[in-house]
Amino acid sequence: MTRLSAVATAQLYDALFEQASALLRDHNPCQIHTNDAGETLCAGHSPSGWCCEGCEHLTPAGCGVDVKPLACRVWLCQKVADRPKNKPVVIALRALRQTGVALGIPLDYDYVTLRKSRTQILTSLRAVK
Ligand code: SF4
Ligand code: SF4
Repeated sequence: MTRLSAVATAQLYDALFEQASALLRDHNPCQIHTNDAGETLCAGHSPSGWCCEGCEHLTPAGCGVDVKPLACRVWLCQKVADRPKNKPVVIALRALRQTGVALGIPLDYDYVTLRKSRTQILTSLRAVK
């Protein structure tokens, strides 16, 4: 595996995060919205809730602005990922994830890594700028 410097890893992290955010903004697979009762809903919402539910980083306005959770940004729940119209964004997000993993950024699809902030991930790599 190629090892990057701390600064290069942080720059790569930010670039991947911006690209993933732009993909989600342009394709809007999650369709997050608030209903008349003030509840936050999304395309993958189920009776047990949605993927951000219970996360320490969730604020009334959504994910905290400084959190920048790359693992979350390159992941989509199965319900939404399986929709044919979302195939292009799923493929593009997967490519971003593979790039990050290949260069040493932990982006496992599990509920520990998924909820890690930029600081938590880069600190775990001793790569904070
Ligand atoms: S990944 Fe699924 S559960 Fe999470 S916000 Fe998107 S649609 Fe909702
Ligand atoms: S860290 Fe992930 S799970 Fe938590 S609020 Fe942000 S996007 Fe949602």
